[in-house]
Amino acid sequence: MALKLFNTLSRSIQEFAPLAPPKVGMYCCGPTVYDFAHIGNWRTFVFGDLVRRYLEFKGYAVTHVMNITDVEDKIIKRVRENKTSLREFTGKYEAAFFEDLKTLNCLLPHHTPHATEHIADIIALIEKLIARSIAYKAADGSVYFSIEKYRGCGCTYGQLLKLNFDEMRAGERVKSDEYAKESVADFALWKARVPEDGDVFWKSESLGEGRPGWHIECSAMSMKVLGESFDLHLGGEDLIFPHHEDEIAQSEGATGKPFVKHWLHGAFLLVEGKKMSKSLGNFFTLRDLLAKGFTGREIRFSLLTAHYRETFNFTLEGLRATREALSRIGTFLHFLLELKGLNEAESDSELLAAFSEALDDDLNVSKAWGVVFEWIRKTNRLIAEGKLSKQEAAKCYATWIELDKVFGIGGTVEWLYPKEAEKRFLGELLEDREAARKAKDFKRADAIRDELKAKGWGIEDTPKGPKLKKI
Ligand SMILES: [Zn+2]
Repeated sequence: MALKLFNTLSRSIQEFAPLAPPKVGMYCCGPTVYDFAHIGNWRTFVFGDLVRRYLEFKGYAVTHVMNITDVEDKIIKRVRENKTSLREFTGKYEAAFFEDLKTLNCLLPHHTPHATEHIADIIALIEKLIARSIAYKAADGSVYFSIEKYRGCGCTYGQLLKLNFDEMRAGERVKSDEYAKESVADFALWKARVPEDGDVFWKSESLGEGRPGWHIECSAMSMKVLGESFDLHLGGEDLIFPHHEDEIAQSEGATGKPFVKHWLHGAFLLVEGKKMSKSLGNFFTLRDLLAKGFTGREIRFSLLTAHYRETFNFTLEGLRATREALSRIGTFLHFLLELKGLNEAESDSELLAAFSEALDDDLNVSKAWGVVFEWIRKTNRLIAEGKLSKQEAAKCYATWIELDKVFGIGGTVEWLYPKEAEKRFLGELLEDREAARKAKDFKRADAIRDELKAKGWGIEDTPKGPKLKKI
């Protein structure tokens, strides 16, 4: 079945159709590295990870790009306040971001371009817009994008949302990167150097000393890696305006080609029913939650239970409740591994088809989790009744491994037995011991027994063969 996704560009659910399948170029707006990312940011990044993983599950060859915004208004303000250098300041938060990304088991994007490493590409893009008379230099030396000129070329400003141009006066300008749609105006592409910028500036022969605006950074970096037209652009819904609308205008204004085919936006996250704010005490970075004793797996699972277009009410109670579901998965996998021993099998294509059908429906995660938990319930009953064969257990385990490529919750040997993971799974050790005994290699059998004992496991001989028993 074909994957259908809600495209913000058409405001409708559309079949996902990349430009050159099986290749998919996917760009996600990355972090602005001026602070630790909070749980609302993480909702978007985990959503991006889910999209990429699911596309790969469907057989697409995804090129996943996530930019690092390491120069913009907020960063410069913080650099000034902290009396530090740009690189030192952003380096610390960038390192924290990648650490957090790993904690949440998000796949590393294939490209993570930095704005400060693409200044030449950004300047070239602005020069293109100036050459097409869509951008102009203002009296203060900054370069602005002219909405009037852009619209005059037959282009549409307001592709992702409806804008009211009646109150807009031609040539009115906004220099800040963030503004509301009511104040739509010509926006800054290149901000001329001012004393408050300290030593954060670049020299350009054509543009003068200055630094890029935030929006142009993403246009330049996405097109540099993925080409002038690409398949999928993703971000939080707060980025629809002005950031993404401006990205479209800058890119299409410069190339005359359609910029992105599918736009996907993740909805907001509330914490304890309210908008997150430091004064309300409901503002959590990932690190705050880890300090409260929650794990990356619990947080990831919790974020993956809500549909991406629904506002998600994140609560600590809800996060605690994930433990029950995760422990059900853990116990289930434990039994499967114990039962399957060294048997291997193909995954269950019927179950995976039902799982995939749910996700094809605009990434309906609730439906997909429904399929998974119903399957776990039925299989558990067979295990309890002693009706699941070793081969069937192997098939179930292989199925979990497949569907977990999408959810990334874990459930591998590493999760169930983290301490032993660097060696081998206990069951394998037990079978090795049996093989050694049968071959009358008692020295080896004893060595394995001692190894298991050191790990806290004893061997109990039962009529069905030897079993592991916690000492
Ligand atoms: Zn962006």
